[in-house]
Amino acid sequence: MNLPDSYQHPSHRLKNPDDPPSHRMVQMLLTRKIHITPTTKQAKILWALSEKCRLLYNFALAERRHQWIRNRTKPATEYTSITYIQQQNALPALKAQYPEYTWVYSKVLQMTLRRLDADYKSFFARWRRGDHQTRPPRFKGKHYFTTLCYNQSGFKLDIDNQRICLAHRHPSGVELTFSLPWLPPLNGKIKQVEVFQDRHRQWFVAITCEVAVPPYVDNGRYQAIDLGVSNLVTAVNLQGRFIQIRNRRPDLYWKDKLRQVQTRRDHCRKFSNRWWFYQRKWVKMRQKLTNQLRDFQHKVSKVVVRNTRANTFIVGDLAVKRMARKKAASVCQRQNAATRTLHHSIQNTGFLGRFVQFLTYKAKKVGKSVIRIDEAETTKRCCVCGTVQMRRLSERVIQCNCGTTLDRDQNAAVNIMIRFLLQQPLVNREPLQAFWYGLHRHTALPRVPRVVDSMEAPTFMQG
Ligand SMILES: [Zn+2]
Repeated sequence: MNLPDSYQHPSHRLKNPDDPPSHRMVQMLLTRKIHITPTTKQAKILWALSEKCRLLYNFALAERRHQWIRNRTKPATEYTSITYIQQQNALPALKAQYPEYTWVYSKVLQMTLRRLDADYKSFFARWRRGDHQTRPPRFKGKHYFTTLCYNQSGFKLDIDNQRICLAHRHPSGVELTFSLPWLPPLNGKIKQVEVFQDRHRQWFVAITCEVAVPPYVDNGRYQAIDLGVSNLVTAVNLQGRFIQIRNRRPDLYWKDKLRQVQTRRDHCRKFSNRWWFYQRKWVKMRQKLTNQLRDFQHKVSKVVVRNTRANTFIVGDLAVKRMARKKAASVCQRQNAATRTLHHSIQNTGFLGRFVQFLTYKAKKVGKSVIRIDEAETTKRCCVCGTVQMRRLSERVIQCNCGTTLDRDQNAAVNIMIRFLLQQPLVNREPLQAFWYGLHRHTALPRVPRVVDSMEAPTFMQG
């Protein structure tokens, strides 16, 4: 059958060498966070600009709230709401009445209103999803630094001197120029620059640029990944080969040190000089720990993406929140202690969800892709015979009645791979058979026919 060009799968067209290179690349947004050190004068200006944005945010929020209160007395058919466009159109009038709002670059004010709009949208979305614990956006307090967002314009990148210059119209005339230790890729186009402070009052700019990356092509090689606390990554490929990367545990190194400083601090009079001395020390150590965890996750995700020919990674959809949820205290003291240790491990080894995010963007950068599939029962199920059995977390090696003896995480990775292959719309099961063949070649698994349950297999595969 001869299909017109537009009907063909993009990957067929991509193989045509006559295509111009622009057709073979896709655009991707990448954001880089860079530490900056403003001078005292610059910091003062930044705070003044932030203050204007903060007030604007609060005014706009109050306007929306009043509208909502007025709506409550009306019948549902007469509800009216205030939109972003209405608030944006009111900006020139506001500037005419209060000229100090012209200090801020106009796009930054607009982006502040957009953020309020986005906050409301996400609130309504969460509410509609059934999360009735969620609360609407709140007023920002006095010492809150509002992120200054320069979208599309208002910034100038000086490549020769490695500096970035931000626009403002503050009467003091101090230039907001910051040197950058890193420059965005030259082929990329800068979309947005944001200035913000983190929890520790450090200044940062976040530069978002659009870069061209190779498109994702399914090359028939897959890697299934199980994530965990003791083994950060356990991966298996279609040839049945395993890779295992142990998690680094800087939290164990810092645990006692942190507790010691905390105890000393708690023996001081609160907010005394000595108390602040230990408090600062404690914050610094916590910061170091978080940085070490993030750094390790960045390094491992890079290795996982680069060290394979597979273009597709399959990870289980995580529910860390569910894992670390507080359970009712058991009568058994030992059980309680074990639960506490587990929660400590889960919450202090860096979030696995963040690791998946790192993996996803690093994969996309080199034209690969990460697929998430349901992870339920991948640990409990024996990968050979398919029996589901409750297992304690202390059981590092699973031993099934069918004679299977396999590492716990390896078993989970195999299960994820099988689930993915069964979900594929394939009439033949060649990849699955190849996977089994490879698995038996590399591991001493018994040959037992696996019971495929109807939950996993599409109907045409049964029987
Ligand atoms: Zn078994």
